Amino acid sequence: MNASRFVCSEGCDFSALLDEVVYRCARCGGLLQVAHDPAWIAQRSGAEWRALFEARAGAVRGVHASGVWRHKEWILPDLPEEDVISLGEGRTPLQPLPRMARAMGLGELHLKQCGISATGSFKDLGMTVLVSQVRHMRRIGRKVRAVACASTGDTSAALAAYCAAAEIPSVVILPRAKISVSQLVQPIANGAVVLSLDTDFDGCMQIVQALTADPTLYLANSMNPLRLEGQKSVALEIGHQLVWEAPDWIVIPGGNLGNVTALGMGLKLLRDAGLIDRLPRIAVAQAARASPLVRAFRTGFVDLSPIAAEPTLASAIQIGNPVSIRRAVRVLQAFGGVAEEATEEELANAAARADLEGAFADPHTGVALAVTARLAARKVIAPGSRVVVVSTAHGFKFPDFKVRYHQRALEGVDSHHANAPVELPAEVGAVREALARILDRPRSIG
Ligand SMILES: *Cc1c(COP(=O)(O)O)cnc(C)c1O
Ligand SMILES: [Zn+2]
Repeated sequence: MNASRFVCSEGCDFSALLDEVVYRCARCGGLLQVAHDPAWIAQRSGAEWRALFEARAGAVRGVHASGVWRHKEWILPDLPEEDVISLGEGRTPLQPLPRMARAMGLGELHLKQCGISATGSFKDLGMTVLVSQVRHMRRIGRKVRAVACASTGDTSAALAAYCAAAEIPSVVILPRAKISVSQLVQPIANGAVVLSLDTDFDGCMQIVQALTADPTLYLANSMNPLRLEGQKSVALEIGHQLVWEAPDWIVIPGGNLGNVTALGMGLKLLRDAGLIDRLPRIAVAQAARASPLVRAFRTGFVDLSPIAAEPTLASAIQIGNPVSIRRAVRVLQAFGGVAEEATEEELANAAARADLEGAFADPHTGVALAVTARLAARKVIAPGSRVVVVSTAHGFKFPDFKVRYHQRALEGVDSHHANAPVELPAEVGAVREALARILDRPRSIG
């Protein structure tokens, strides 16, 4: 029997059971992480783990039909299967973008499409784990009245959906008028208690932290390490999809910096367990209007102080005071990582450019693609490299961003790839004429 526990991520001698309601180290106040027994992972060789995970990849029902839970031994080995609440998360495509790769001088460029998921973002990967654990705690008699989060939109959508499936009340705290209509309607539809506050994400986070001092209100933000346990499965899926050969770089958008922490954990586990034999480098991509990690990177990580985040189209990463900045710095240091930023115009055009190869990229994926282009242009990412960009959400969640881009109505953005509909009378002659004009016009997609 493995016994996973919470331990201090700053290295203190502190540990707690996963059934306890605890988010910080009692000694230093640092964040926690889930520690698995190394002997538990070492019970199988790398080849055996690979074979096990590969064999489950075709499962069409049961917990192994989830891209998270088919790695259950590495996620929450002790959780009884009957407590798992899955909405079929994970198992997302790795979409090649060969034309964009060529334009950037890269060997390969792939989008890991985490937004093709139950609630449209990678947040599902972590929320299935957190909500399953809460369901278990309630079943064994722990008093958890509700699960609560502050959100820039996607966390609340995932929390509300998984809690709805598990019949657990959820409370979501959102910054008023700072998230998309699609994101707002998701927790409403799933029956969450939706509290809309006149502040930004950082303000909502402070309030939810104060509220969840009450242990019967369970905190679902990514400072809760259970989320990261599920999110680390993205590394396991990428490993499998690239036939257990790490890419040269993984580029990931970062806000609160939990996801890059989870990515680092997953990759390290793959390497330590012998499924891959070398680690990729990692680049964290931020919007220039909310880039505390980029600022910190440029000081050699001497100055990790928060900033005031300004409004950006990449609203889910409009965070000035990232809760996981210290662990993200450690990931960048361990993975030869960098942090780089993208302007509003760069992110919008990069998203639109990917769409011309069949994607439907949200603004955060745009940030990551634009940062990839910057790093390739500066040869920080060497020519010919194989790069995976983590697409964190589905473009469907940001219809306003998409529509206004193509209307050339995004402030401060010159839409290089705008594709406005042609308005015509309902007459076949006029339509034929317009088509002749348009199809014979040379088009360039640069
Ligand atoms: C939450 C989120 C992020 C940022 O993830 P962090 O773990 O906060 O760094 C990026 N993109 C989207 C679409 C998100 O919802
Ligand atoms: Zn500690």
